[in-house]
Amino acid sequence: MKIHGLQKMTLLDFPGRVACTVFFGGCDMRCPFCHNAELLDGSAPPVMDEEELLAFLKKRQGLLDGVAITGGEPLLQKDLPQLIFRIRELGYPVKLDTNGTHPDRLDALLRSGAVEYVAMDIKNSPERYSETAGIPGIDLAPVRESVALLMNGKTTYEFRTTVVKELHDDNSFYRIGEWIRGAEHYYLQKFTDRDTVPFGGLHAPEERQMRRWADIVRPMVHTVGLRGVE
Ligand code: SF4
Repeated sequence: MKIHGLQKMTLLDFPGRVACTVFFGGCDMRCPFCHNAELLDGSAPPVMDEEELLAFLKKRQGLLDGVAITGGEPLLQKDLPQLIFRIRELGYPVKLDTNGTHPDRLDALLRSGAVEYVAMDIKNSPERYSETAGIPGIDLAPVRESVALLMNGKTTYEFRTTVVKELHDDNSFYRIGEWIRGAEHYYLQKFTDRDTVPFGGLHAPEERQMRRWADIVRPMVHTVGLRGVE
């Protein structure tokens, strides 16, 4: 398997763990605020292969205690379960980031017990999903199925939304709250602009707006948190 990026240590990507983050190329969404746009079409040169990643992880045993897998959309990699199995053989718990478009693959991973934690994006209300995911006429059925799998499963998970001033409004959070009512953890992550973001002219919301939007969801979800806010 081709690995398209490796952050050698992070305290942010895998809650409660000192982890590294592994990036896979390719994604079936085109979010206008994406931070990893160079990875989306899968054509970026890989930085290492699977064996090199496993050799790195072997050297870091005792220093790291988790591996976060992200993208792009990592579930597009058909050999991902085998790689996760090998990472776990080295003693590392695995966290998976996903946009929820491959519930069949997610289900197989959840059933195997191979991942300790899943972070799934909820891009917006159903009404504004297409605009926020950059896919006109998006079919939300797979995303809805992934939400249900996580909420009905045993694996620890979070839902999260990258919040962009131009893409979100009060209704976004009423509708997201209704959609994931009863979920364990939900985070609003403040958008930050970068040179690599595919669309210019997007902005982070003000922090008081983020707090207000968190308050909208709070009655519907067990814990609601903010990221990127003081
Ligand atoms: S789902 Fe994630 S990786 Fe894919 S385009 Fe959206 S933000 Fe980027």
